[in-house]
Amino acid sequence: MIEDRLRKLRQILVEEELDALLVAQPENLHYLSGFSGSGALLITAELAVLATSFIYLEQAKEEAPFLELVKIEETFDKLLPELAARVEGQRLGFESAYLSVAQHRKWLEALEGAEEDRELLPTEGLVEKLRAVKDAHELEAIRQAGLLADAALAHIVDVIQVGMTEKEVAWELEVFLHTHGAEKVAFDLIVGAGPNGAKPHASATEQRIKAGEPIIIDLGALLNGYNSDLTRTLCLGKPDDRFWEIYDLVLKAQTEAEAGLKAGLGGKEADQIARHVIEEAGYELGHGLGHGVGLAVHESPTLSRLSEDTLEAGMVVTVEPGIYLPDWGGVRLEDMVVVGEEGVEVLSQASKDPLVDG
Ligand code: ZN
Ligand code: ZN
Repeated sequence: MIEDRLRKLRQILVEEELDALLVAQPENLHYLSGFSGSGALLITAELAVLATSFIYLEQAKEEAPFLELVKIEETFDKLLPELAARVEGQRLGFESAYLSVAQHRKWLEALEGAEEDRELLPTEGLVEKLRAVKDAHELEAIRQAGLLADAALAHIVDVIQVGMTEKEVAWELEVFLHTHGAEKVAFDLIVGAGPNGAKPHASATEQRIKAGEPIIIDLGALLNGYNSDLTRTLCLGKPDDRFWEIYDLVLKAQTEAEAGLKAGLGGKEADQIARHVIEEAGYELGHGLGHGVGLAVHESPTLSRLSEDTLEAGMVVTVEPGIYLPDWGGVRLEDMVVVGEEGVEVLSQASKDPLVDG
């Protein structure tokens, strides 16, 4: 599995005319090595060397037994010339979206003092592009993380009541996820009732839930290293007339998008399917339709107006249209789907019946 990933990355290095790539972004490092701590991985056509400090050394031996391990005695910068000397060629790529400007300067200084002439070249999204297409093992892990989020949602439908605070609902979800196997929650869980739900990334507050208002619940679990992401909108008791207008519209946008997604479609075109439904009815989709999910809860590809990505079979993406009306609230529905050649498989199983007895 890891061998296969390294082989694909080496192919990319050839295409990018790089002699080596230094990978330190945590999920990229994890993906290419199996190692879940922090450190840096040097990959060349021949080598894969993992550098890490004392605190992660034993963990690295366990998680990445097939890789050459080097201990960072002081700082990685000091070790860099030694690692760079082992690269056959001058062109050393680094992850420009991850390395800070300060760190980059230290790396440059370290290489300037070295005997061999090595050039640091910025790269973007090389490993992320590989990560976007999941193998069978990853798909199964994401499926399981998704089922856990579905179960937490079903649990909250049973216990949620008028008068509970958003924070109490969020905590109830969090406890459920942890006691049912999650390593952690995938992100700060969102519970947005009434007007608070009009902020797409509202954090849970002390506000008490009232009957009849829309409640956006966005949750996810990290399970076996992989994330899930799920949103449902609930309503306790009898909703107002506007609720159904908005809810049905969001559901229609999601249903049409899920029916239209398949390999070969652009992330921009995917977004446009849902956007068109919402705009035609006179509302606005204020954010992108979705994002990839995997080792990170937000990763490649992007489904949005600005996306330059193209969907490929084996990608896992969210489909999450929403409408947000200040002073009233919001409705968002989010599923995770696996992209196939002819269409998608919807992973999220949680009910889309929003009504809950108050
Ligand atoms: Zn979400
Ligand atoms: Zn999401």
